[in-house]
Amino acid sequence: MKRIYLDHSATTPVDPQVAELMMVYFTEYYGNPSSVHSFGRQVHKAIDEAREKVASLIGANPSEITFTSGGTEADNLAIQGAARIRAKKGTHLITSAIEHHAVLDTFKYLAKNGYEITIVPVDEEGLVSVQDIEKAIRPDTILISIMHANNEVGSIQPVAEIGRIAREKGILFHVDAVQSLGKLPIDVNQMNVDLLTISSHKIYGPKGVGALYIRKGVRISPLVFGGSQERKVRSGTENAPGIIGFGKACELAGQRMADENIELVRLRDKLFDGILASIDRVKVNGPRGAKRLPNNVNISINFIEGESLLLSLDLVGIAGSSGSACTSGSLDPSHVLLAMGLSHEVAHGSLRLSLGRQNTDEEIDYVLQELPKIVQRLREMSPLYHKAI
Ligand code: PLP
Repeated sequence: MKRIYLDHSATTPVDPQVAELMMVYFTEYYGNPSSVHSFGRQVHKAIDEAREKVASLIGANPSEITFTSGGTEADNLAIQGAARIRAKKGTHLITSAIEHHAVLDTFKYLAKNGYEITIVPVDEEGLVSVQDIEKAIRPDTILISIMHANNEVGSIQPVAEIGRIAREKGILFHVDAVQSLGKLPIDVNQMNVDLLTISSHKIYGPKGVGALYIRKGVRISPLVFGGSQERKVRSGTENAPGIIGFGKACELAGQRMADENIELVRLRDKLFDGILASIDRVKVNGPRGAKRLPNNVNISINFIEGESLLLSLDLVGIAGSSGSACTSGSLDPSHVLLAMGLSHEVAHGSLRLSLGRQNTDEEIDYVLQELPKIVQRLREMSPLYHKAI
């Protein structure tokens, strides 16, 4: 049976060039980067090179990159770290309703611990309004956290504009760019960002490694103590093979992004158009066109239950997702789709297909051949569908 992977927003395969490089740092250059001997120095140098590559992909200085265990930790470090250090200045924080749980749950934790939070809504396309952010700002606001692109519906937020307002008011601005890294150009200066989260496994690098960009001069409290690694902002022996692999993945992403995006947009739109032409009562979730990530397809299919659809697709070898990977274990409808105004039923019938580097026209043709058949079969079993037609 064919196996088609359309869940690249959950994670990506490690690029063979990345894996090959990492292997050397597992078996040959295995020194502790803090050691003074040559084993350690070699690894230290390779980490410095990786830091340069990561920094270069987002227009930062290498000294502004702090490696973490991934996007979740970087989000926590940015938000908790900024909130703690600025607590004397103010205790009000702003975010949006469609953030990843790594951001939303950190905000909720802070709300239980003496901070006040404002969660701004989004429109029906999953876009945050700059005016809503501006209205939410108070004299005691210390941090705004808005994602660059949404992981479920691919909506791209007006971060540069929000950053400009935050800067004018002296408020720190954090951006979760986990889904946009390697897919959209990122320049931390043009985007007026103070803190930016990125993760390796979404860009063909290894899992369990990410980074937080911290603008020069911005101070945050560490979450982990016990060593002097990463300028004491993130103690603990570095995940050297992971960091070096992440560096390589960033280098490759920088080289390939422009060409890859043309192809991703073409396949994405072929998938959208094909689905809309062959299945009735389908709703596109998120914007179409330039305000959407090049690799994201998200639809709600009426009278279908997302989990049954995913299982049926899996039986014919197609891997997709019905929400973000982290929440697909729960039966709650996606908080992102609910925030966009979808009813519980429609949100339950949602499907995310996220494309990647290796997907082909033949694979999309196969999805377009199988998906309508599955939908037809599932709808035939739905009493609601029969009542509606
Ligand atoms: N932020 C966003 C927008 C994400 O999509 C994800 C992962 O899906 C994360 C943060 C968490 O990143 P990681 O898996 O590296 O912890």
